[in-house]
Amino acid sequence: MLRLKKLLSFIFNLIFPRSCINCDKFLPGSYYTGFCLDCIKLTKEFNIKQHQAICNILEDKIIDDFNARFVYNDVISKIITNLKFHDQPHYAEILANLLTKQVNGFKSENCLLVPVPVHTKRLLKRKYNQASLLTKYISKNTDIKYSNNALKRVKHTPHQTGQSAKIRKKQLKSAFLAKSTIIKDKDIILIDDVFTTGSTVKLCAQELKDKGAKSVKVVTIAYTAL
Ligand SMILES: [Zn+2]
Repeated sequence: MLRLKKLLSFIFNLIFPRSCINCDKFLPGSYYTGFCLDCIKLTKEFNIKQHQAICNILEDKIIDDFNARFVYNDVISKIITNLKFHDQPHYAEILANLLTKQVNGFKSENCLLVPVPVHTKRLLKRKYNQASLLTKYISKNTDIKYSNNALKRVKHTPHQTGQSAKIRKKQLKSAFLAKSTIIKDKDIILIDDVFTTGSTVKLCAQELKDKGAKSVKVVTIAYTAL
């Protein structure tokens, strides 16, 4: 059985050669994490104990817990930009595999995966929501149900890059709308690509709790150390 599995994996790799998502180097063999051994060394694993800023954010209990796979840096930035803007949605499957452990760490009996939504206007431009794609593959890996309708973005806000936290907060106020019938009494695991100031996920978490969610935990690919 194991032999057959190995053989099938070998054939699959011949047909669909896997490469490193950072440097495109061909990666033979069945064990595949997305990065080659050289590039994985360029990433930094996230450890909450090393980041006081996120501990401070968790203190107000709007977000009940947080975890990420990586600390944001040039390598992660390139991969997330590819996922977001360069029409490479297959990256989502690879990145979702890298988040299985973090999401399973927050798993409970009554939990639901919810992606941070984007407004329809942006969705039309980009064709897909990267957080939603990630969530779909995470659901497949963890057997946790997911919903794209639990939380909607009802207000279109300009790109946030380069704006102060205060302006962002003002723009994002009442930008989200949660559906009580889907999220009531659920432990929500909110999925996004990057955690920066936390203003977006905090507003999502607040709206989810206002509509009856029991708890809201957040998992992202990367955490930006400020
Ligand atoms: Zn590489």
